[in-house]
Amino acid sequence: MCGIVGYIGKREALPILIKGLERLEYRGYDSAGVALMGRGKIFVYKKKGKVAALKKFIKSKDKKSLAGGIGIAHTRWATHGEPSDRNAHPLLSNSENIAVIHNGIIENYLPLKKILIEKGYKFKSDTDTEVLANLIEDVKKNTKVSIDEAVRLALQQVVGAYAIAVLSKDDKETIIIAKAGSPVVIGVGKGEHFIASDATPLVEYTDKVIYLDDYEMAIIKRGKLTVKTIQNEIKNPYVQKLEIKIDELEKGGFAHFMLKEIYEQPKSIRDSMRGRINVEGGSVKLGGIEKYQNKLVNAKRILILACGTSLHAGMEAKYFFEELAKVPVLVEYASEFRYRSPVVFENDLVLVISQSGETADTLAALKLAKEKGTTIFGICNVIGASIPRATDAGIYTHAGPEIGVASSKAFTAQITVLLLIALYLASSQGTLNKKEMVKILSELENIPKKVEKALLTNATVIKIAKKFKNAKDFIYLGRGYGYPLALEGALKLKEISYIHAEGYPAGEMKHGPIALVDSNMPVVFVADKGGSYEKVISNMMEVKARKGVIIAIINEGDESAKKIADYVIEIPKTLEFMMPLVASVPLQLLAYHIALLRGCNIDKPRNLAKSVTVE
Ligand code: GLU
Repeated sequence: MCGIVGYIGKREALPILIKGLERLEYRGYDSAGVALMGRGKIFVYKKKGKVAALKKFIKSKDKKSLAGGIGIAHTRWATHGEPSDRNAHPLLSNSENIAVIHNGIIENYLPLKKILIEKGYKFKSDTDTEVLANLIEDVKKNTKVSIDEAVRLALQQVVGAYAIAVLSKDDKETIIIAKAGSPVVIGVGKGEHFIASDATPLVEYTDKVIYLDDYEMAIIKRGKLTVKTIQNEIKNPYVQKLEIKIDELEKGGFAHFMLKEIYEQPKSIRDSMRGRINVEGGSVKLGGIEKYQNKLVNAKRILILACGTSLHAGMEAKYFFEELAKVPVLVEYASEFRYRSPVVFENDLVLVISQSGETADTLAALKLAKEKGTTIFGICNVIGASIPRATDAGIYTHAGPEIGVASSKAFTAQITVLLLIALYLASSQGTLNKKEMVKILSELENIPKKVEKALLTNATVIKIAKKFKNAKDFIYLGRGYGYPLALEGALKLKEISYIHAEGYPAGEMKHGPIALVDSNMPVVFVADKGGSYEKVISNMMEVKARKGVIIAIINEGDESAKKIADYVIEIPKTLEFMMPLVASVPLQLLAYHIALLRGCNIDKPRNLAKSVTVE
């Protein structure tokens, strides 16, 4: 997590750095800080809290110390050391000659710190990052090499994940960056360079970007860039064109990014299937995986690895892959998979899902699966991120940048793309015939309209949110395709409103959770008219018998469900396996409005960050 920004060129660095931090704040907001290269020293300003606190803090500072065209900046998601001014980045080395910002974790920081302390280094913070600043200083002192060489040698001693940017008084015209496991991208301008954790801060300045690979570093001077590996092998940087547009990064009149993103779903779902379906021909075209079609068709099993909301999309996929394409699917938390001894066969196909394409656990799980010789497909939203670059093939979701920390449009875009893969597989191996494909694809084409209708439930959802904004707990229940949605609905509520919520398969209710039900317990049911509808209705009756308060998401005009539920939210009917695309909307809106009424920071919920690039 955490955002890093840098600038070197003819413009004033500070405004670019601050704006960049604001764009990256979704990645962490425990503290923010800048280091600016002055004539005689490095000026560091840092403050606990959000970028706004840093902006206020530097207002009173000497203007001369804020000037200049070289600087680095950081917004932190603390891993080592509490959020505080002291632990905020940039961290200076003992001599104050070197400033470092860092995203990731230096796993061997304790032994390194011990050695440095024995050599007389003093530490002012609890961070792992300060160890790196002093390690670079120590290497430089002992070897008398240039600062970029000292960074390179120091990194050879480091175990862990990092994206770093380094300034040094010994070379006032240079920023050094390096990466291993955490993201960093370089924007190339005319005689200037921009650095950031992802491309969002760069969009307004350039559409030319360079993504570094793991264990690569860049030595950036005004208008000149050298890329090499940590092993000192010079690399030819590959300049790519950036596809994001600036208006995609603004709130566009909505109170929060999350609300904007919820409302963008008709478009993001449409964009995720654009050019990929031929309704009349009953076919799906997925350019990203075409070369690996055989691997998909011949896969004896599909393993889906993901975290958080992406895992819930994977759970939906398990159901429709097995229903439509008749291939067994296992879904697992990437963070579990990577640390056990999973059995993976060569003819398995691994599918990893991550909005940011940077999720540390998913990336590590992917690497583990790769070592076992399996083919890996990725489903990501951020073009050029680490996961899509590490997979054999993949499909982008094209949902557009998702800024709200709680995922909404990325979830439905992931389900859309997963469904396209399932349909592609089903038609390739004949488990669905052309007529069935035509029917399914024409309904899929209609989904954005149904999602638009689902957005019209907003007024009803607000009324319900008002009733339950002070609830202490919530239970979410569903069966079949409604079960992962129950998990996702509960996760959304937890993330942004801080209300405790549990999602369960409705059939499991009597094995435990029903003990929690009383007249104070709101129970949200996903009760569309799918295969388990009657069973879900029975579960609703059971909750009612125990005086639980029922909020049910039902299909339009379902009079029998209306008689049982205390509150209903009506959504259009679609094919059962597409229901999650429509029913997600009221679940997201419910979490949003409850959080809003509770005065929570919706786009930046406490303790969370969008792109989980640490374990
Ligand atoms: N490990 C560093 C710290 O705790 C960096 C964390 C981050 O990625 O923001 O300060």
